[in-house]
Amino acid sequence: MHYGLDIGGTKIELAIFDSKLELVTSWRMPTPKDDYQELLSAITQMVADADKKTNQKGTVGIGFPGFLDNQGRSVSANISCVNGQTIVGDTCEQLGRAVAFENDVKAFVLSEVRGGAAQGKNNALGVVVGTGFAGGLCIDGQLYKSRQNVSCEFGHVSLPAVLQQRYQFPLRQCGCGLLGCVEEYLAGPGLLWMCSHFETDYTSVPILVEAMRANEPKALEVMDVYIDCLGCYFAQLTLMYDPDIIVLGGGLSNITEIYTRLGQAMQKYFFGGVIAPPIVAAMYGDSSGVRGAAIRGRDNAYNTAVLN
Ligand SMILES: [Zn+2]
Repeated sequence: MHYGLDIGGTKIELAIFDSKLELVTSWRMPTPKDDYQELLSAITQMVADADKKTNQKGTVGIGFPGFLDNQGRSVSANISCVNGQTIVGDTCEQLGRAVAFENDVKAFVLSEVRGGAAQGKNNALGVVVGTGFAGGLCIDGQLYKSRQNVSCEFGHVSLPAVLQQRYQFPLRQCGCGLLGCVEEYLAGPGLLWMCSHFETDYTSVPILVEAMRANEPKALEVMDVYIDCLGCYFAQLTLMYDPDIIVLGGGLSNITEIYTRLGQAMQKYFFGGVIAPPIVAAMYGDSSGVRGAAIRGRDNAYNTAVLN
């Protein structure tokens, strides 16, 4: 059996998958995000419960909203207690087995490449557009591993100047400490911010989307700008990574109009001869995180066994 854990800012989910990666069961508990020892205890307890349910010692992969720095120490803006900790070694010791950690967004991408919406594609780029804006790249079915594990943190590069000037956007302060990050404009809170920038009074993204579908001119205007910005940025991502497919996840990926309009919106930001790749919705939705984590855990346990 393969266990995938997803440590979020409020909940930890553990899902048990069988050898064919079919979901057996899953459950959640609150994340003790301010106390590292309590967090380790919670993980240990959940895995012990899973072992009891399956009557075996399953493989473990853990997704979290952060990354391991090049010293192997965990870094997370959302779960502050893991900062600077040797979380991989600590959980391996507590659980008595190999444990793989993966950034939660990259786990999502891995899940979509292995039996999901990007199955069979050599190069797949996954982008999660929700409360944040981040992604991951899979090459030949494997996550691209980089020196500091910060590849595809493309929510924290500057919004293209062409957009900033066209729409008179101020340079917004990002939570990461930088100015004018893409995430501040294109993630869910950024879209809501655009509503106020264009002097509309939509108070949530669902209300905006409903108004767009009712053809309210102000809502259509905001969504036109948003799709143009998204198209520009996805065109840039295409010029950087040239993927065979782009898989979308996160709350905003549920806006179906994005799929019909984005390809065309991207096209005007390419030079001649370049075409937009297919852009598709994730197949596993909210469960992609635990599923991808379980795949990482399974691969890691296999590799560890082979190396030993
Ligand atoms: Zn930033």
